Amino acid sequence: AVPLVVAKSTALSAKHGLLIKNRTAFENSRKITTMVFDKTGTLTIGKFEVSKIVSLQKALKENEIIRLASALEQQSEHPIATGILQKVKDLKIPVPKAENFKAISGQGIEATVEGKKVLVVSPGYLKENKIRTPDGFTANVTETVVFLIIDKELAGYIALSDEIRPESAEAITTLKQENIKSVLLTGDNSKVAASVSNTLGMDSFIAEVLPHQKLEKIKELQSKGGFVAMTGDGVNDAPALAQADIGIAVGSGSDIAAETAGIVLVNSNPKDIVSLILFGKATYRKMV
Ligand code: ADP
Ligand code: MG
Repeated sequence: AVPLVVAKSTALSAKHGLLIKNRTAFENSRKITTMVFDKTGTLTIGKFEVSKIVSLQKALKENEIIRLASALEQQSEHPIATGILQKVKDLKIPVPKAENFKAISGQGIEATVEGKKVLVVSPGYLKENKIRTPDGFTANVTETVVFLIIDKELAGYIALSDEIRPESAEAITTLKQENIKSVLLTGDNSKVAASVSNTLGMDSFIAEVLPHQKLEKIKELQSKGGFVAMTGDGVNDAPALAQADIGIAVGSGSDIAAETAGIVLVNSNPKDIVSLILFGKATYRKMV
């Protein structure tokens, strides 16, 4: 039988936007020492808008950069894809067909378009493959940037901006008051990660992590003695959500994340994490 005080708190938690799938997760929420957050779609809205299109080859127009990119993005479900496809729609550019589409896990996508091998990838991919970025490039990048590579030549890049969810700041502030460390864990570049982390006053950030590294980072934090909760929305967050002592999924995110997590933020509001922690503490304090 469920103790009355817990039954009541379950009804209350529904009112506060929490779906508690796993009671132990809820009970353990009072033990959290470290809260790890995915960035895109979790602390930010996850709605990207193209802010800049840059060609790095004289013969290529900006429109050609985004036209080729859109061919690949049409087969991707990443929020970056949605942003790029919206832009070609606004520009009334027809999207060409892409063949042999493949995802490069956590770093981008590749395909054949009009006989050319095209890649849309992260700055991390360029670094790993020793492809030089334009001079002075990294100095002014506080946005998410994806590079276009055509037949192994760097062709241009597209910058996209996303917005921090208005409720994220309050969530981080309350965690601080509760002595819980907040850590940003993202596949995006360090500049963006630093900017979001600083804006929100988070304790630290870890950037340019590949999906399987997200899980390793959680293990690392646990091995340092932390009781680690992870909040994420994406397919690429699922392994980390499973590894964390408590997995929390954002409701608007992928089904896999929600299936893996013990708790779901039904309204996709990071502030509801605060309710989770305060509730957990209040509920189980009454029982002891
Ligand atoms: P996050 O941890 O922020 O959810 P992801 O692991 O989904 O990040 O993606 C990491 C990076 O990989 C993105 O910032 C982007 O540079 C690149 N990337 C992933 N998917 C795509 C895509 N469909 N198009 C272009 N770039 C992509
Ligand atoms: Mg995400």
